[in-house]
Amino acid sequence: MKKAIFPGSFDPITIGHVDIINRGLHMFDEIIIAVGENSSKTNMFSLEERLKFITTAFKDDSRITVQSYQGLTVDLCDTLNVSVILRGLRNTTDFEFEKSIANVNQAMTNVETVFLLSSPITSHISSSIVREIIKNKGDYQNFVP
Ligand code: ADP
Repeated sequence: MKKAIFPGSFDPITIGHVDIINRGLHMFDEIIIAVGENSSKTNMFSLEERLKFITTAFKDDSRITVQSYQGLTVDLCDTLNVSVILRGLRNTTDFEFEKSIANVNQAMTNVETVFLLSSPITSHISSSIVREIIKNKGDYQNFVP
């Protein structure tokens, strides 16, 4: 049974995340969506809201589980006995950021990170843009599941 953890803030989950998760299911039997409780980040949505959005989006798919976590993603991997982290890459900025984290995670543990390139139709979408649209009362419906 091949499992992967898809960690993130998901503030809120977007169709970009959903695209990576759905395509990840072609490679993994189970994907655990891990919502980080990062105290240094100010979120628009509470942890409970972020978890609820994700649970609702994947309610019909038993291959997806959702949970929150604190601390290092590699420690969660260890606790859940999962050795693969799944991440999405939209652009070179994502790449530079993700590269360092993946290298450090690999240096600390045997956890590998698998990257999927974002699909062209969702590569422009980010949680921060969706938050900006919501704040300014724009129509965000097409960008979230
Ligand atoms: P974090 O705060 O850890 O970056 P996010 O919720 O912003 O968490 O993102 C989680 C993962 O989803 C990251 O790997 C990010 O690059 C990826 N991601 C976010 N938006 C998209 C998108 N539109 N297409 C592909 N991957 C995405």
